[in-house]
Amino acid sequence: MDCIFCKIIEGSIPSKKVFENERILAFYDIQPSAPQHVLIIPKKHIPTMNDVQTEDLALIGEIHQAAQQIARDLGIAEAGYRLINNCGKDSGQVVFHIHYHLLGGEKLGALVG
Ligand code: 5GP
Ligand code: ZN
Repeated sequence: MDCIFCKIIEGSIPSKKVFENERILAFYDIQPSAPQHVLIIPKKHIPTMNDVQTEDLALIGEIHQAAQQIARDLGIAEAGYRLINNCGKDSGQVVFHIHYHLLGGEKLGALVG
């Protein structure tokens, strides 16, 4: 399958990992939008938020738990951070393997308002 993030999971494309277990991988974004910018992905290839099934809900919950852990490990948990999923072309999603951007390390601009 021609998926950049599946290749990162299998190791044929290198990445700087910050968290890994049997189901989830997290690594630094190659083009950071904040001082700390990590991508958290399931090892299961799910293209977008629209493709998440009931059977995936525990996995999505575990991604949130991993985000907590990573934020603590990066030292940004208390100051605060943002967890973003882009879904589909209008959102700007360019990699069609579901992923969550964990952004922090500075005061982030408001998304709305
Ligand atoms: P999207 O716009 O799909 O939500 O975000 C995709 C993100 O993946 C972008 O922030 C982009 O910089 C990142 N990215 C794309 N290719 C690679 C790669 O090969 N390695 C890493 N570490 N990040 C990547
Ligand atoms: Zn994939």
